[in-house]
Amino acid sequence: MPEAIDWEDLERLVIELDGDSVRLEGGRATFTYGGQSTSTFTLRNRAAQGDLDGDGDEDLAAHVVERSAGTGVFHYVVPVINEAGTAVARAPVLVGDRIVMDSIWVQDGLIEVSLFDRGLDEPFTIITTRTMLEIDVSGGTPVVAVTGTEPIEDVPLPGPGRPVIDIRFDPGAVSAVQSGSIDFRERQTYTVQASAGQPFTATLDASAGVWLDVRLNDLVVAPVSQRSQLVTTELTASGPWQATVFSSHAGPVDYRLTIEVLPVVEASPATTTTAPTVRLPRPVAPAGDGVVYLTFDDGPHAEYTPQVLDILARHDAKATFFVVGRLAQAYPDIIERIAAEGHTLANHTWNHEDLATLTRPAFDETVGRTEAILGDLATPCLRPPYGSIGAHTREWAAGHGLSVLTWDGSPMDWLRPPATEIADYLVQWAPTGAVILLHDGGGNRSNTVQGLDMAMERLADRGLRYEPICR
Ligand SMILES: [Zn+2]
Repeated sequence: MPEAIDWEDLERLVIELDGDSVRLEGGRATFTYGGQSTSTFTLRNRAAQGDLDGDGDEDLAAHVVERSAGTGVFHYVVPVINEAGTAVARAPVLVGDRIVMDSIWVQDGLIEVSLFDRGLDEPFTIITTRTMLEIDVSGGTPVVAVTGTEPIEDVPLPGPGRPVIDIRFDPGAVSAVQSGSIDFRERQTYTVQASAGQPFTATLDASAGVWLDVRLNDLVVAPVSQRSQLVTTELTASGPWQATVFSSHAGPVDYRLTIEVLPVVEASPATTTTAPTVRLPRPVAPAGDGVVYLTFDDGPHAEYTPQVLDILARHDAKATFFVVGRLAQAYPDIIERIAAEGHTLANHTWNHEDLATLTRPAFDETVGRTEAILGDLATPCLRPPYGSIGAHTREWAAGHGLSVLTWDGSPMDWLRPPATEIADYLVQWAPTGAVILLHDGGGNRSNTVQGLDMAMERLADRGLRYEPICR
């Protein structure tokens, strides 16, 4: 019975490379070619055992990596033959530069290799393909054959993935931002509770090689093979949709995923997610006093806010605009116009957060940042998105000198009822002195604009005064 060769033999292997001998010690070697470029060789912790030359004893297949400054990272499979107890390396087989080795095993006398690599025109950091190789060393000189390739997204993942992260959206326009870190070939899935007809945008900020996959069962909006980092669509069915972040980047990377859904274009039975609490209008001023309090949320919007301002100006009407801080930052000219025309501005958070769900620091951030962008133009009111008020919301708002103001009634214009319905609602309830919620941003507001115009025309001879509720 011949002596076996083992891992210790691999650690002091001698590899012949283009006429040079590289001698590993403890699995490592530094080698200088022609006194010039230096390479380091490392034996990787992956080897396969089996009879490679047909003589009945166990040979080995080792994985050695050569790191060559400025040239590449070369991966070799080295057949190591057991010759009467002595480990003899055959010519190393170069299997790739800057690849990711998947596995090596021996089957039927052949070395089988699975590795991840890329097309010739691909950046080195982006892995696109799994390649299967078969190396035959029975005849002395290794013979290499490619036995298969497949797109990396089709390669099954080992083991269970990370738990799915659930994102629920209310009918108002909202966005959710998720930050994470993802490793090569990992998938991280978010379920998105959204409904048919909702405009949907997913934006991934990450290195190339990290891609989005958006689908609902067989309804595929963007397969990972499309390599999208921006997906924009109108959802064709009600969720839960799945947005998966997939990495073919050759190492771990950080990413930021922003998902936005806008309100459904038409109200449908499927949109029964948490709706804002809308109370019936109640008069806050004696009937006949003739003061109307219109409020506009979710702007400023480049298209709809100027239209609303034009209509209000025609009727010498003043209103309150509860603006989203990040939009106020984006449209300073519209903010200036709102103030210059006698309307008032107030806080609707930085990015339409649900205040009841926030920690104190996050609350202070979103409210304080919006106060800062409005500066002297801010009035001391805070309207919580979705009308959502938690146990601490009023107290924390007071810490910023703000009162929480909701509303008395709304034609629920975020569901885009016909303009005539919005107009009928306003004609009936606005003269009662109720605080009326309307929207100049957060989606398509053409029905709101048209309904407002119709209502104000119909109310024109009633002698009403339109005043800001927040001053
Ligand atoms: Zn809002």
